[in-house]
Amino acid sequence: MRVLVVEDDADLRRQLKGGLEEAGYAVDVAADGEEAEFLGGSEPYDVIVLDLGLPKVDGVTVLERWRDDGMEAPVLILTARDRWSEKVAGFDAGADDYLTKPFHTEELLARLRALMRRAAGHASAMLEVGDLSVDTRSARAFVDGEAIKLTSHEFKLLRYLAHHAGEVISRSELVEHIYDQDFDRDSNTIEVFVGRLRKKIGADRIETVRGLGYRLIPPEAAGAA
Ligand code: CA
Repeated sequence: MRVLVVEDDADLRRQLKGGLEEAGYAVDVAADGEEAEFLGGSEPYDVIVLDLGLPKVDGVTVLERWRDDGMEAPVLILTARDRWSEKVAGFDAGADDYLTKPFHTEELLARLRALMRRAAGHASAMLEVGDLSVDTRSARAFVDGEAIKLTSHEFKLLRYLAHHAGEVISRSELVEHIYDQDFDRDSNTIEVFVGRLRKKIGADRIETVRGLGYRLIPPEAAGAA
């Protein structure tokens, strides 16, 4: 899952990027409203953290422009404690959630997980595909209740596929949602990771749809489509 962090305070920006990367997300950052508007309008983020007090273009305006352009990623706004009217303006502009500064990184992470899974149509933090379970809180996966040892890249790939279980996901979509913009993106690496994942969770769980991409399915459904 890929996250955009928009924050003009350099310390907080660094802290957020570090915390999110530690939690296994690909993270891009923007330090002002102009950069934010550009990145949010051109890259496919799974969730966006948007500070409202920004140089160049303020956060509410950025959010309004994104929504006017049809940008659908869930957005969590960061507001100052005493600025209740900012929250109202933020929600009216299309925000999905908010946090008041200062906040605990753990709370931010929990709120972002909730936003991403709701955007993908899941009510629970545990994503289930047949007997495969992907725990988005602990970053662990289980087959038939048994923990599977995955590297962080394998987990990122599996988590994205599990959020979109049953859907065909192209290699380029996987690359865009698993790596940040600075990563040297080679879609061949996706093939390698899919191969490794198949060895660990069972080859028939990740279906290759020729010319289109991959689909995470329960094993009993393999070959049915
Ligand atoms: Ca600010």
